Amino acid sequence: MPTVQNPRLTGLVCIRCGRRYEIADHSTGCPACLAEGTPANLECAYAPGGPGGVEQPYLRPVTLGEGGTPLLTDVTGAVPGLDVTLKWEGANPTGSHKDRFSAVAVSRAVHAGYQGIAAASSGNAGVSLATYCGRAGLRCEIAVTDDTPGQVVDLMRDLGAEVVSFPHSEQRWEHIAGYRDSTTMLPVTNFVVPPVGSSPFGIEGYKLVAEEILTDRSGAAPEWVVVPASRGDLAWGVYLGFRELLGAGAVPRILLVEPFPRVVSVLAGADPYATFPGTTRAMPSLGGNQLALQAVEAVRRSRGHAEAVDDERVLAETRRLWRAGLPLEPSSAAGLVAVSQALAAGTMTADSDVVVLATAHGLKGM
Ligand SMILES: [Zn+2]
Repeated sequence: MPTVQNPRLTGLVCIRCGRRYEIADHSTGCPACLAEGTPANLECAYAPGGPGGVEQPYLRPVTLGEGGTPLLTDVTGAVPGLDVTLKWEGANPTGSHKDRFSAVAVSRAVHAGYQGIAAASSGNAGVSLATYCGRAGLRCEIAVTDDTPGQVVDLMRDLGAEVVSFPHSEQRWEHIAGYRDSTTMLPVTNFVVPPVGSSPFGIEGYKLVAEEILTDRSGAAPEWVVVPASRGDLAWGVYLGFRELLGAGAVPRILLVEPFPRVVSVLAGADPYATFPGTTRAMPSLGGNQLALQAVEAVRRSRGHAEAVDDERVLAETRRLWRAGLPLEPSSAAGLVAVSQALAAGTMTADSDVVVLATAHGLKGM
């Protein structure tokens, strides 16, 4: 079935400088900001007059029934001392929030006439994109690092992806950058240094997380939404969704969770385009030594906060949660550790109204 572009989609706008661009795949973000050495992603812009709810760039998208994930309110003990609500993204078709991105990014590729997509991923995104490309009849090339678990690489290949592996993460990006002017293969994940983030079309899919949270709570916004992040695609998309539905002044505070201080450092005065030292073995989905501006902006514009969480504590907490019937991957369990830390620091209290995005289930073994 052909995808249909939303007739109200009018263009893309830079999140940093506000310059406006025509509808196209600007894989390096805003050209003007890139030229100034301060790369920044674009966001979709729509004409008013939508039918209600968040706008999406493609109507009748390639879909496997992603989204509509449960909001779990009875998870006593997930964070000792605070009753949190979990948005269980593990219920998506391939077990992570990435399916929301893939549905829109692949729909964009189909609509624009590409033969396939290319992406750098060490796990969930690659499995998800391979699946959605299979459904759409597109080629899918995933660039991984050599330390990606073999079972995950096998899964991507079984799903029809061509997998290419590199020793270092930066080499994956160089490989994907080779497709920047391709008319056949569309790169949908970041390859710019400093990063801009992933496809602004795909990020639109994350706005539905905000819409579903509000719908399931009869329109009541939570005080906090907790989002594990690397370059902030999900955090930014969730921010955009709440902004569209509630207005810029009423977005819930985003608690961004990272494996070592990046946004934490920027909020303390560091340059967002700096390189931040640190590594993680436990949370590969959240790694990377450079930020995208969108991650910082999601926190700043929501009057939010950032917490860095430690590998050892996250692994211990992941084991505890699995035995309590919550099989999150460590990069997801990180969100619950961050809430514990925020509670201990007084940033949150026992009465805080908190929704944690449980981004992926742990059954892929990552
Ligand atoms: Zn710009």
